[in-house]
Amino acid sequence: MKQVLIERGLWKNGLNADCQLCKDKVDDITRIDCCARRIISLQPDFLAQKSALEEAILHSTGHLCIFYPKFHCELNFIERYWGAAKRYARENCDYSWSSLQRVVPVALESVDTIMIRKFARKAWRYMDLYRNGITGKLAEYAAKKYKSHRCIPDYVLVELNKVE
Ligand SMILES: [Zn+2]
Repeated sequence: MKQVLIERGLWKNGLNADCQLCKDKVDDITRIDCCARRIISLQPDFLAQKSALEEAILHSTGHLCIFYPKFHCELNFIERYWGAAKRYARENCDYSWSSLQRVVPVALESVDTIMIRKFARKAWRYMDLYRNGITGKLAEYAAKKYKSHRCIPDYVLVELNKVE
């Protein structure tokens, strides 16, 4: 890493390889030169580098791989589908290996397409709320309350923005 920074004229004497803020993954866009790891991670060619998983998907299928934001399972409808299937499995299984082998496929089938679409619409409502600056408990409330909508109506967004 040091050699790359030297070649690019970015090395400074006394620069540490990494720092606690970077180790703790503290996200702060104003921190650009706290350590060697940070400086190199902000280089355009490093920013453009895709992960091995993304590369493999792109090369083998031509598909793009887009990750959901970390720690936001509410944005991924498959989490709710998985949760519903797990609930079914819990209620219909005696926790033996043979029971699990029998129940898990049935549990996955127990969630119908209509329900999966409801989960997807709820995820869309959260995305819509976040895009409009509404987060936290207010987002949870609105995502639940406006369940007949894929997106939160504009007049509601205006009112919710007044609350925060
Ligand atoms: Zn750092």
